[in-house]
Amino acid sequence: MAGMVAANRAAELGQRPLVLEKGADERYACNSRYSGGALHICMRDIQDEAETLIDTILAVTDGAASKKLAQALVTDAPRTYGWLKSSGIRFVRVPAINQNYILAPVRPNRAGLHWFGRGGDVLLRTLEARLIGLGGRVVRAARATELIMNGSACKGVVADVAGITKTFHAKAVLLADGGYQNAPDLLRQHVSPRPELIKQRNASTGTGDGARMARAVGAQLVGMNNGFYGHILCRDVFENDRLWPFPLLDYVAASGIVVDGSGNRFADEGQGGIYVANNIAKLSDPLSSVVIFDEAIWQGAGRYRAIPPNPHLVLAGGTVTYHPSMSGLAVELGLSEPNLQRTVNQYNAAVAAGNPRDLNPSRTATMYKACPIERPPFYAVRVCAGITYTMGGIATDENGRVLRDDSSPISGLFAAGATTGGLEGGPRYGYVGGLMKSAVFGLRVAEYVGKAFSREFQ
Ligand SMILES: Cc1cc2nc3c(=O)[nH]c(=O)nc-3n(C[C@H](O)[C@H](O)[C@H](O)COP(=O)(O)OP(=O)(O)OC[C@H]3O[C@@H](n4cnc5c(N)ncnc54)[C@H](O)[C@@H]3O)c2cc1C
Repeated sequence: MAGMVAANRAAELGQRPLVLEKGADERYACNSRYSGGALHICMRDIQDEAETLIDTILAVTDGAASKKLAQALVTDAPRTYGWLKSSGIRFVRVPAINQNYILAPVRPNRAGLHWFGRGGDVLLRTLEARLIGLGGRVVRAARATELIMNGSACKGVVADVAGITKTFHAKAVLLADGGYQNAPDLLRQHVSPRPELIKQRNASTGTGDGARMARAVGAQLVGMNNGFYGHILCRDVFENDRLWPFPLLDYVAASGIVVDGSGNRFADEGQGGIYVANNIAKLSDPLSSVVIFDEAIWQGAGRYRAIPPNPHLVLAGGTVTYHPSMSGLAVELGLSEPNLQRTVNQYNAAVAAGNPRDLNPSRTATMYKACPIERPPFYAVRVCAGITYTMGGIATDENGRVLRDDSSPISGLFAAGATTGGLEGGPRYGYVGGLMKSAVFGLRVAEYVGKAFSREFQ
């Protein structure tokens, strides 16, 4: 989305953009194509009052977001939406999930990945056709590997095009490779001791090439330890593709508890699924975690929002274990029975006393209600962390100019979308929104380059 928006806008403004895409297929895989298609800012309406949206971004990221980037996003989101519509992109409103701008057609309401002919797929095909019509070019099977520098300015890129090394000279280069969620070395360094045990809840195309190329020419990387946007998935997903990207176990986990292999809680479930997924990833064994809940939660939060686990997890073949007693559940799961019983008892007592915050780890109950686990049968789902995209990345200013460690811009080098950092993350892994970020900064880069071309890029 970032690359295609930028290329379209640049072509409109009289430039001659060339998109290098490493995927060889006409409908190459990427996160934009696989996405649910909801354009939002922190899950809110993009047309909400600007101050409210900026405050929300700063609040969910605990101040980790750059205020300048937040302002740029919020200011240009409505205009970017208008530009997308005028470029032929269609949206629908889905009140059931409180979203007003979802790329049409919307994905079906059932478990598994369904992207073909859906919003993200249509968006990319529409923008690509439009780009060609405007005189731009797309080269597929072209993996950018290195930036060409002339002194301190970026002047092009080296790419492997279907096995042949080629150089492409350009007055401006935009990195828009989608993040490093599929780069095991970077994940091990920043996200999880066992990246192979994290489910790739994405197109597997974000291999961190942009961050590496930028770093090699002196770019600053920000928020690399700020985790990822992702969700809690059923552990069976490693053998069963019908279990991703939906259903999510987020709401069930946020109503009950999540324990590790020793039957102890390890994270504040009340911070929500993205937070818990990041903490699952950090465990020495990220596959050891289990969500524990009861019949009331299964019938309540278990049926909440689109494609809930009750019944979609079961229908798609995911394992849900249940037992009339907690000790019986512990035995079935192979967990320490006294430990699990003690964890559940402590949790129930804190909920009954109205002080779940005093638990260790503390349990927030402001965003999601902490529900007692007391009505049999008792349930368990073995879970894992599903990573969608990384929140850290290349440091940029509000026009997408790539910044060095001393915050000076690298002439001719830009970055946009999920390859960038500085807008999302923080200690609670605040999610701002991938599509809107990609579209707004793609547009802004093209407009900056368009304006600056005559002076800076001669
Ligand atoms: C299942 C799922 C659901 C989602 N739902 C939503 C949602 O509803 N709302 C929302 O806001 N966000 C959502 N997201 C996140 C959103 O899709 C991404 O944040 C966004 O699409 C990122 O866009 P991008 O242009 O930065 O990257 P991408 O769309 O991933 O595009 C990057 C492109 O760069 C190519 N590439 C990578 N390396 C190279 C290289 N070296 N040379 C050449 N090409 C390269 C890749 O092949 C890819 O085509 C979802 C993501 C997923 C996976």
